[in-house]
Amino acid sequence: MAVTGLPAEPRRITILGSTGSIGRSTVDLLQRDRGSFAVAALTAQSNVALLAEQARTLGADCAVIGDETLLPELRQRLAGSGIETAGGSAAIIEAASRPADWVMAAIVGAAGLEPTLAAVRQGTVVALANKESLVCAGALVMREAALHGATILPVDSEHNAIFQVFDFDAPDSIDRVILTASGGPFRTLSLGEMREVSPAQAMAHPVWSMGAKISVDSATLMNKGLELIEASFLFPVPEERIEILIHPQSVIHSMVSYVDGSVLAQLGTPDMRTPIAVTLAWPGRMATPANRLDLAAIARLTFEVPDFARFPALNLARQALQTGGAAPTILNAANEVAVDAFLKGQIGFLDITRIVEQTLARVQHGSLTDLGSVREADDAARRYAMHLIDPAGDPRVIRVPTRGQGRH
Ligand code: NAD
Ligand code: MG
Repeated sequence: MAVTGLPAEPRRITILGSTGSIGRSTVDLLQRDRGSFAVAALTAQSNVALLAEQARTLGADCAVIGDETLLPELRQRLAGSGIETAGGSAAIIEAASRPADWVMAAIVGAAGLEPTLAAVRQGTVVALANKESLVCAGALVMREAALHGATILPVDSEHNAIFQVFDFDAPDSIDRVILTASGGPFRTLSLGEMREVSPAQAMAHPVWSMGAKISVDSATLMNKGLELIEASFLFPVPEERIEILIHPQSVIHSMVSYVDGSVLAQLGTPDMRTPIAVTLAWPGRMATPANRLDLAAIARLTFEVPDFARFPALNLARQALQTGGAAPTILNAANEVAVDAFLKGQIGFLDITRIVEQTLARVQHGSLTDLGSVREADDAARRYAMHLIDPAGDPRVIRVPTRGQGRH
């Protein structure tokens, strides 16, 4: 595969969350060009069979499984390979700190924050897919990146698109950023219809094939809300100049509008290997097997204004961003709990944003000064959201710092 702009020595690569949807796409690209990359570490939470297989195929130095009870199985599967093994969340953070030229941060949820921070703190190139780490601690992650000289390259397709067309040397020449959204599987459903949808329906995204959590987020449009917050930390543009536009074909991955009226966009087929390759070859380019875009075959690109009444997650995320401090952390944590409960069949689809809204309204929004305050806000929001889902559950959930004495 032709790779331009890369040094002759194999680059050391680490993948955090190698067994997930983004992780597997990253492994796929590395496999096609084994000579250019040496793998320092691969990490996964529970898919021990795939982790072991990836580690053997790529000749990784080390494989780490988050669920420590699976470490004996990982050891057994990698016996005789010479690949180092470890287990537990501290071992994932240690793996993220190992010297690497490029780290893919592709763990899902706030669980990815500390490993992502560890990668950032080694001052390397961090390809960031784990949007929740920016949502729950954006100021902290960006501050640490500046302090340690890390380069954060966005993998999320919208942010990757913006990154490719954003003039960082002339931010004043930018009028607005337009985040495109497919609208998800329920774009045309009424609220009444949405009340009845199942997890399987929510997971069936019309365009992208992704992990369970982001698929549900795409159905509520919370994903676009999280991406709005993500964009505000990645690009020097005030929140009120970041717009959301529904574009069901997902061909235009996002746009930047300039003061002279020019609008620059990045287009492509929906294949995450393209944005991953942009970060892997940056500042060069590398070939990928992603399907080529055939605009004549697609023929029509359409656009719609989002419906904020049917998709309240968009306004909740914008409000959290405007409030600042711990509000985005609380929004993110409540959403993770609610999505998990929806996937387990404990709550309905419309309950997801209701739980986020109520948690955001009731849990204290302190300021975020360090990782400890992020953890506190995240934990308080999780406990409150769990209490909303199951009021008869663990009584400790009631001891959550809340604002006022309103109803729970
Ligand atoms: P996924 O669920 O398919 O994979 C998640 C990975 O994280 C797996 O390797 C899993 O083992 C690991 N993991 C899960 N919980 C963990 C924990 N507690 N500790 C350590 N590791 C854990 O998710 P995905 O769809 O690949 O998404 C990963 C991230 O990338 C998410 O933040 C998502 O929002 C973002 N993203 C994904 C896509 C996509 O197309 N899938 C697109 C844009 C952004
Ligand atoms: Mg996206």
